[in-house]
This record gives sequence, C-alpha cells and structure tokens, in this order.
Amino acid sequence: MTEGPDALTRAEEAELATRRQARGPADDTMSALADADERAIESALRPKRLTEFTGQARVREQLSLILTSALRRGRPPDHLLLSGPPGLGKTTIAMIVAAELGAPLRITSGPAIERSGDLAAILSTLSEGEVVFIDEIHRLARPAEEMLYLAMEDFRVDVVIGKGPGATAIPLEIAPFTLVGATTRAGLLPAPLRDRFGFTAHLDFYAPDELEHIIRRSAGLLGVTLTDEGATELSTRSRGTPRIANRLLRRVRDYAEVRADGVVTREVARIALELYEVDARGLDRLDRGVLDAVVRRFGGGPVGLSTLAVALGEEAETVEVVAEPFLVRCGLLTRTPRGRVATAAGWAHLGLTPPPSLAELPTLFD
Ligand code: ADP
Repeated sequence: MTEGPDALTRAEEAELATRRQARGPADDTMSALADADERAIESALRPKRLTEFTGQARVREQLSLILTSALRRGRPPDHLLLSGPPGLGKTTIAMIVAAELGAPLRITSGPAIERSGDLAAILSTLSEGEVVFIDEIHRLARPAEEMLYLAMEDFRVDVVIGKGPGATAIPLEIAPFTLVGATTRAGLLPAPLRDRFGFTAHLDFYAPDELEHIIRRSAGLLGVTLTDEGATELSTRSRGTPRIANRLLRRVRDYAEVRADGVVTREVARIALELYEVDARGLDRLDRGVLDAVVRRFGGGPVGLSTLAVALGEEAETVEVVAEPFLVRCGLLTRTPRGRVATAAGWAHLGLTPPPSLAELPTLFD
C-alpha cells in the first residue's frame, strides 16, 4: 500500500462502513457492557477454571477454600454474592464455580424474572447441587425476591394456587443448590437478601500488569501476534476492565492485519487506539463527558448526581455505575456529601488549570 496513514483504501472504507453498521457507533468499543454478539465472542475467551482466572487474588483464594471445602464435605457451598462494575468477571466466576464443582449451571437475571412464578419454575426443576446464577439481582421484583429468601434458607418455595381469599400456599421442597448473585449496585440489595449470602466478594478494577496477562492469554487464543510493548500499551488503556481489554485487542488486531504486517507493536496499538478515540488513560466518551460536564458546566462541582445525569442526557444509574467508579479510581473525581467534585488531576486531564483553591488542597499522598 502506498497511501499515507490518513488515506483509507476504498475496500477499507467499505469494510469500515459495514463494521460500523454491524457494531453501532464507534464509542461502543469502550463500553463496559456487552451486547449479544459480544457475549458469543467472549465465551471463547472466558477462563474456565479458577487457576486460569487472573487477578482478584483475594477473591480467588477465598473461593478456592470455599469450593474445596464444599467438595470435601460433598455438600453445595454457601450462596455467593459478587458485586462490582460491569466487565470485571462476575459471570465468568459464576461459570467457574459450576465448573469447579462439576455441577450444572442455570443462568438468568433479575429483569428476566418478571413474576415469582418464573423463579418457581427454575427452582422447582433444579437437580441437587446445581448452581443458579442471577445477574443484576438487585433488579429482582419484590415477590420473586421474597420467594428467594425461603429458597435460599430452607430450600423450599411456597407455590400459591388460586387468587384472593381462597388462595392457598403449597410448600414445595427443592433440591439444595448454590445461588451466585451478581450486582453492580450492592448498596441497593435489601438487607434480608444480602444476609442470606454466606460469602460476599467485591471485584475491583484490574491493575495494568493483570490486564497485560489477560491480553496475552487472549492473544494466544485468538492467534494474534503481540509484542511486549504492544501488550503494555493496550493494558494501560483498557480502563481496568478485562472486557474492554479483550475488545481493544480485537480492534487493534484488525488494524494490524489491514494496515501493518499483522503484528501488534506499541506503535500499531497506539495509532489504532487513537483511531478508536481511546484516550491515554483509557477513558471512554461517557467518562470524558462526565468529567467535562463537572468541570466546564458546573465549575468543577460539587454537583448532584441527578443534575449531572440530566446535563448529560444519561440515566443517573449509568453515570453512577458505569462512569463514576473508574473516574474515582483514577483520582479524577471525588464523591462528597454535597455532590461530585473534579480533582486537580481531573482538571489537568482535560488540559485545564485547576482553580487555586483546588490546587492548594492537600492530596492523599501529601
Ligand atoms: P461481568 O459479568 O462482571 O460483566 P464477565 O464475567 O462477563 O463480566 O467478563 C467479561 C469478559 O472479560 C469475559 O469474556 C472474560 O473473558 C473476561 N474476563 C473477565 N475477568 C477475567 C479474568 N480475571 N481473567 C481473564 N479474563 C477475564
């Protein structure tokens, strides 16, 4: 190819157009959420056993003890609750739990269970020791939630027959099972539900060296050739999230195959990531939008979550669950009782000079 880096061949243009159509807007590249197509690709990259699972060392060790002990006793382990931002491995862990126990797995989610009857249908057909994964468990409807209390504690459900004053509840024994619940908003879980989990783990963003390890493993599975520096570059821009790391790897591979000799070097990774508008710290469009609004529209804050969400045209939950945790983790934003406040580093990240009052504030490291 003789074109400069800015020129797209006609074939590429056509291919990109198709890709855009198939994938939606380019900023989906950085979304921590996955659509159905993404889920299919992800299943090939998911670690299948606990020993293959990188990072979250403490959670891994605790899980290993729980699972080994359950296997020795020949009894299903306690119910497990996993919380943390999207894309950090909650579904993966649920699958690993089932695999390590050699037990079947049922997957459902809070919003999918519309009536308690839906839940009764799942629970009453379980075989002994099965693992039930309920994603977004904080969105379970109230009647289903109450049915779950009894099921988790006594392995029993009350099936209500009939309506009104003549309705009767028939208790039904169910097979002992293990519930794995996942939530991005642990704070929303009612205490009676939270208390019925014998083990609660919070997943945190991954360190760059852990992401690098995940990226190398995925590159091996996908047959992508990657240099050490290429892996490092990707890992620092992946927003601490394995789902994003895997997705960026695929996007950079596309670039390497079409524009370079197929090898993902630092240079190739950097140019490709710029093309996909991934910023140097891995912030995506929503993250940047939130930071930008706090700084430019609200003078750096404090600004309340709902005001901020309205200004961005986003759901408050999306801002709170998807963007904020990473901005806070990066030290660009803080949560105060009066609202969200951009830090001096947050101003600097946007290329702006922080107001003197902020610059003089002592930081955590002073
Ligand atoms: P969540 O359920 O928290 O949204 P998932 O379990 O679906 O996240 O993980 C998203 C993707 O990231 C999966 O395809 C999986 O391959 C990858 N992934 C997550 N955690 C890890 C890990 N610790 N090691 C390797 N890959 C991981």
